[in-house]
Amino acid sequence: MSDAETLFERVIAGEIPADVVYEDETTFAFRDIRPQARVHVLVVPRKRYRNVAELAAADPGLLADVLSTSAKVAKLEGISESGYRVVFNTDGDAGQTVFHVHAHVLGGEQLGFFGR
Ligand code: 5GP
Repeated sequence: MSDAETLFERVIAGEIPADVVYEDETTFAFRDIRPQARVHVLVVPRKRYRNVAELAAADPGLLADVLSTSAKVAKLEGISESGYRVVFNTDGDAGQTVFHVHAHVLGGEQLGFFGR
């Protein structure tokens, strides 16, 4: 992991405005600026890891926190009953653009198949 700050450290620090949905000691959740579904929230650990593989290897407890927060966000957003998707884009072919691991929580409408 490089020391370079990513966009999401600045969001967490409040330097970049964001529509915050939930936060606690270890995680932070805010609406995606370019929503791909009616509900599209990003869940990030406050501590930065490049991607979900690095997070899983270094701190599985923190990955569990990210997943737990994703479920809380789904409840808060009223989509836990209708169904939702949690996605971690991981590096090149997945199109990851911000290298501070984040879960996309998507729902609020019927989601299309994805892959290509
Ligand atoms: P990735 O492509 O890395 O999986 O996801 C990065 C996400 O961050 C994208 O869905 C993009 O729309 C979102 N994003 C990029 N810049 C900002 C920003 O300044 N604020 C917010 N709220 N989301 C952002």
